Amino acid sequence: MDEYTLLIDLHKQGHRQGPGGDAETEKALNLAIADRTAPLKVADIGCGTGASALLLAKLLNARVTAVDFLQDFLDVLKEKAENMGVADRISTLACSMDNLPFADEELDVIWSEGAIYNIGFEKGVADWRRYLKAGGLLVASEITWITGSRPQELQDHWNSEYPEIDVASAKIRILEKHGYSPVGYFVLPEHCWLDQYYRPMQARFENFLDRNENSEKARAIVAAERREIDLYERYKAYISYGVYVAKKMV
Ligand code: SAM
Repeated sequence: MDEYTLLIDLHKQGHRQGPGGDAETEKALNLAIADRTAPLKVADIGCGTGASALLLAKLLNARVTAVDFLQDFLDVLKEKAENMGVADRISTLACSMDNLPFADEELDVIWSEGAIYNIGFEKGVADWRRYLKAGGLLVASEITWITGSRPQELQDHWNSEYPEIDVASAKIRILEKHGYSPVGYFVLPEHCWLDQYYRPMQARFENFLDRNENSEKARAIVAAERREIDLYERYKAYISYGVYVAKKMV
């Protein structure tokens, strides 16, 4: 089994595939949207198995397009949408986030939790802007330094993993540079990492290894996740996801 197939196998049973929480999705929604009855066209980019896309479909009067390049995640999302009774409001699109098929000014809202880093925050906010109507909203969570300085080990790790990591003021400056006005920002609390993401994943490790006959590749994936969890637990005072809400200005 290749590494992607194994990663899908580990993550598709999770409610989320990255740090986040339903209460925090709703908190961002409250910052972004005053009138939940307004008919809206929304895209959730890098939606995974749909934690945020499904909630948006449930809470808003919206047509939600859930975009991910992994069809296996979208298949799980579709089944959940049926079970939640929101299948008529949500459609899935298997597509890469750097090659989206939306028309210019088609969308009222672009939502993206824990995913924009895949093409880089600056490229994402710049490239996706044209799909938004004037006054449309971008809601994106992005790994963020939550203190002005930090231990060298942590800095070195992220400099090699994702050199775009920065403090919130720098992310907001990027939003302004690309024609957005910041509407709101908050930091995901610790429970979004530990209770909503890492602990449920840790609980799946044993079955994942059994299912995959304790193969070397499966063990390597678990070891990498454990290193990531350890790093977060040691350095959580310095790092989190920031949730950025910004409006497209003309
Ligand atoms: N938004 C979900 C959540 O918060 O649970 C998933 C977050 S997960 C960390 C990142 C997601 O981005 C994965 O579902 C992955 O398949 C998707 N992804 C990664 N690169 C992508 C790309 N180039 N185009 C579309 N989706 C991508």
